[in-house]
Amino acid sequence: MFDVHILDLGFIENNIRREIYDNVRDSIPSCLRKDFQYSEHGPFCLPLMPDTDEYLYVTKMAKRIGAHLEIREKTVYTPIEEKNCEFFYMWLSDPMEIEAVHLEDYGTQFRNGCTLCDANRSLVSDALIDRKLIKKKPILQLTDSIIAISKSTKWLIEENSLTGFEFKHMLKDYKGREMGEYFCIEPTANNILPPMHSQTWFWEWREKSCEHKQYLIASNVKYSHSSLVKAKDLNFSFEFSYGLKPNRFIVVSKKLRDIFIKNKVRAGFMPVNIIDD
Ligand SMILES: [Zn+2]
Repeated sequence: MFDVHILDLGFIENNIRREIYDNVRDSIPSCLRKDFQYSEHGPFCLPLMPDTDEYLYVTKMAKRIGAHLEIREKTVYTPIEEKNCEFFYMWLSDPMEIEAVHLEDYGTQFRNGCTLCDANRSLVSDALIDRKLIKKKPILQLTDSIIAISKSTKWLIEENSLTGFEFKHMLKDYKGREMGEYFCIEPTANNILPPMHSQTWFWEWREKSCEHKQYLIASNVKYSHSSLVKAKDLNFSFEFSYGLKPNRFIVVSKKLRDIFIKNKVRAGFMPVNIIDD
């Protein structure tokens, strides 16, 4: 495994894009050339090794053409290394974010949230949603760090004794219409991890004057080895992600990932870098 930096120049003119790409193409690590082949669509991103002439050249060009350069870090794993990772950052389809709606819009009741940003609210009763947002998915992310799972996903979790799950509330249609059984999983005292390692790259926001900073992650998620000693198969981060509401990031074990992939419970997974204490 090794780290590269993703230099993101945003939307720039095609002729300059082509010129820069041609000048650095040979320096893109070979295993990333297919994912980062030349394209005139989307933001212009180049994965390069830090402290190289090509890296310096791209930063200088960005400055010269007035492009807003954003740099992220990516740890590149071989398929075998990735398969052997112990923990993964998991991301899920989030209908609330896509539709820009909140659970309380459908009458869901919460308690004890931060009065400024709503962080750490918890359900007082079943969660309510419009059933059309569910689309029969086996697992979804909802606002307020709530994960909703179908009956078949719950069966998988119980059958395999996956830890970190408590089923206190259900997710139901706000008009009482039939939508199949869905169960809510919330952060609890038992499944919230210690803070991430300080080597994790963050872009942070604090729009409200409370202590709940929100983050976009700009590298792999990183934890010290000791922070994961008590980790369950499903865990929530101490940190909140940036979005409609402060949601915690989700970190899962290799066991959970392998079971979900095998059973087509669709989610995104990225290896967590574990750093020795
Ligand atoms: Zn807050």
